[in-house]
Amino acid sequence: TFISFEGVDGVGKTTQVERLRAYVESQGRECVVTREPGGTALGVAIRKMLLHGVDTGDENDCADIAPRTEALLFAADRAQHVAEVILPALQRGAVVITDRYLDSSLAYQAGGRELTAAEIRNLSMWATNGLLPERTYLLDMDPAQSHARLQHAEDRMEAAGNDFQRRTRVTFLDLAEREPERFHVIDASQSIEDVWARIKADFDTVSTA
Ligand code: C5P
Ligand code: MG
Repeated sequence: TFISFEGVDGVGKTTQVERLRAYVESQGRECVVTREPGGTALGVAIRKMLLHGVDTGDENDCADIAPRTEALLFAADRAQHVAEVILPALQRGAVVITDRYLDSSLAYQAGGRELTAAEIRNLSMWATNGLLPERTYLLDMDPAQSHARLQHAEDRMEAAGNDFQRRTRVTFLDLAEREPERFHVIDASQSIEDVWARIKADFDTVSTA
């Protein structure tokens, strides 16, 4: 069973991923929890470049990442993630839960920036050899609210501003509307317990023990 969690920054994906992990493990099943970008060693190196840019050696200078480069780096991270972590785990029969997957690329690299959804989708489907989650939980919330929840220092993406985050949210909702069988949209402004109750109820219908 392959599950992804999506949503703008600060909606509580990581918290719910951990809830679901505990639930799956309590059933005595193997659960592999992972994330993008950075689900592999190569991915961690790519994540660092994406989030903080590349040090040029010049003191306050950071090399800019062009939109196509950024899309390719996310795709490279995802290709390695599928080959090294996700596919082998699914082949063993494990439940795989990933904190972000290709919908994040559609929402951030296409919805938020200047590339088209078709380009990003083709790139991502090539990178993953077409592997899609059986279920995607979209935690939906006003980005202005979710942003306020973030406790760490913001990275390059999070600093991109409100308009960008708003476009990202709208793109996620569009994606969900287009694939209602795969997506399950949950109002993430509810309490952690209420969000979890919805995920659990749905997961019970998806997972084949
Ligand atoms: O979810 P996480 O905080 O690990 O994501 C790292 C950053 O990368 C976030 O700021 C997120 O907005 C951004 N991101 C992105 N495109 C993706 C995945 C994540 O811009 N495909
Ligand atoms: Mg973040």
